[in-house]
This record gives sequence, structure tokens and C-alpha cells, in this order.
Amino acid sequence: MSLLVVGSVAFDAIETPFGKVDRTLGGAASYFALAAHHFTPVRVVGIVGEDFEDEHEAVFRNRPIDLAGLERAAGKSFFWSGVYSQNMNERTTLVTDLNVFATFSPKLPKSYLDSRFVFLGNIDPTLQRSVLKQMKQKPKIVGLDTMNYWIGGANEELRKTLKLVDILTINDDETRQLTGEHNLLKAAKHILRMGPSTLIIKRGEHGALMINKKFMFAAPAFPLEEVYDPTGAGDSFAGGFMGYLAGAGKVTEQSLRSAMIYGTVMGSFTVEKFGVERLASVKRRDIDARARVFAKLTAFKLK
Ligand code: AMP
Repeated sequence: MSLLVVGSVAFDAIETPFGKVDRTLGGAASYFALAAHHFTPVRVVGIVGEDFEDEHEAVFRNRPIDLAGLERAAGKSFFWSGVYSQNMNERTTLVTDLNVFATFSPKLPKSYLDSRFVFLGNIDPTLQRSVLKQMKQKPKIVGLDTMNYWIGGANEELRKTLKLVDILTINDDETRQLTGEHNLLKAAKHILRMGPSTLIIKRGEHGALMINKKFMFAAPAFPLEEVYDPTGAGDSFAGGFMGYLAGAGKVTEQSLRSAMIYGTVMGSFTVEKFGVERLASVKRRDIDARARVFAKLTAFKLK
């Protein structure tokens, strides 16, 4: 089933203990689309500037990624720069230049209006809601990502938007900030009263935890020898997760559990190289092979 994503398409400068890149294609919607299109066609809504050229668009070409909703505007694309701590568990943002993103107001092409699965990437919650308002029919599933900036600065708007959301993906700090609860299970119960019926707490190298009213499911991070750059892992997780669900076309306990595995697998590819490099080269057979290893890694029988 069709999957729409709205979010940033950006240039990033990234420094980790393993190296540095000055300007590489990034943005939440880029990672999301490159992860999700292996499972279902993806429709992108975003904005870029005149510095987004053919060579940058090339990475999306010859894949089921529709860029009809990627607006071109005068000026520069969104630019973000960050540096990671020695153990890569902490990230400091050095620069956020909104550029063309500052006046972004998502406009959905007609061909997108029937999307059945929608992912509202981390942008202003009012704009996230405006995407839903434009849809011809209520989507089957709406996912949402947000961050501390909006939880603190646009709390009321975010709460309004959350009422329209089925699946919320945030990290553990954001879960605590949104609810004022330190304990993640108590915080989850709180969030399940705000609108979403499923919460996914992303916990970096500790994996991800899914909680809804019926069941809980935990997936560890995939153990890797080479981790070069964690940027985009969360967006790739969301792309694998939502892509798998939209591809399956149904939301059941089984499909949600499998989606957690494919989300984890897509995040694990992203961190193996800088920017989108590894994600852009991965093949469906690599994804399935890693998912099978993951199934063995976590399988056990109670005697
Ligand atoms: P993640 O590592 O999954 O949190 O995502 C990192 C990506 O998010 C980078 O490629 C950035 O370009 C993008 N990004 C960083 N800050 C923002 C922001 N405030 N709004 C939208 N996208 C952002």
C-alpha cells in the first residue's frame, strides 16, 4: 500500500570518532525513503533549494521513490551539522540552518491524496497536521516522529496532532519529556491516552521497545563490528518499520513485530557508513539475510 513521508531533505556535516564529512545528503525523509522503498513505493513531501542538483537527486532515481511532492525553492537547502562523543552515545548539534525549510508549508500533489500509510517526520506539529488535513480520505495508519524542540516549544500543537496519530516513534528522553514520567512503562501508559495506540521507544544501541494496550515487544540493536556514523538510524528504523507495515497492508500483532525487526535491520545498515552511503547500496537480499540472522539471534525456547 502507498506510503507518504513528510520531512527534511538536507545537507549534513557530520563528525564522529571515525571521520568527518563536510556536506552529504541527509535529512529524515531521505533516510526514511531509502529504507522504506524496499518494501513499498514511497511518496516524498519536502523542500530543497537550488543547491540540490541532479547528482543529489540521483540517489533516489530508479527506485520506487516518488519526488513529485519535493518542492524546489529559491535559496539553500536545510543544513544540519553535528558531532558525536567518543562512544557515539551523545550528539551535539553545531548548526541548524533552516534555509528554505523556514517557510516550508507542505503541499501534497493530487497523486498523493489517497496514501493509506502516512509518516509525519520530525517537523513543526502544525505542519504535520496540515498534511493530514489535505488527505482525501483518512489514512489507515499515521506514524509520527518528533523531538525535544517541539515537545518543549510547541507542546499544545503537538498534543493536538498526537490525537490523530496511531504510531509514535520517539527516544527515551523524549518519552520522559513528553509525559513528565521517568519510568518508561508509566510514561507509555500516559502516551497511549494521548492518541497513539502504539508507542515505539528508540533506545539507540539498546534497541527499541514497542508498547501498545495488548502487548509489548523488545528488539535489541543488531550487533555490529563497524559503526561509523549513527546519523539517520532513527529515520531508517522508521522507514523500515512503516515500509514493512505498508507492504504487508495490515496491522496485526505479527506484522507489528516483524516491522520492528525490519526497522532495526534498516537502522543497522545506515550506521555502517557515513550519511546515506550504506543504506543506498543495500539490496533486498542483504536485508532479508540480516533479518534471518536477527531472528536466530533473539530466538529461544523456555524449557
Ligand atoms: P536522526 O539521526 O535519525 O535523528 O536523523 C538525523 C537527520 O535529521 C539528519 O540527516 C538531519 O539533516 C535531520 N535533522 C536534524 N535536525 C533536524 C530538524 N530540526 N528538523 C528536521 N530534520 C532535522
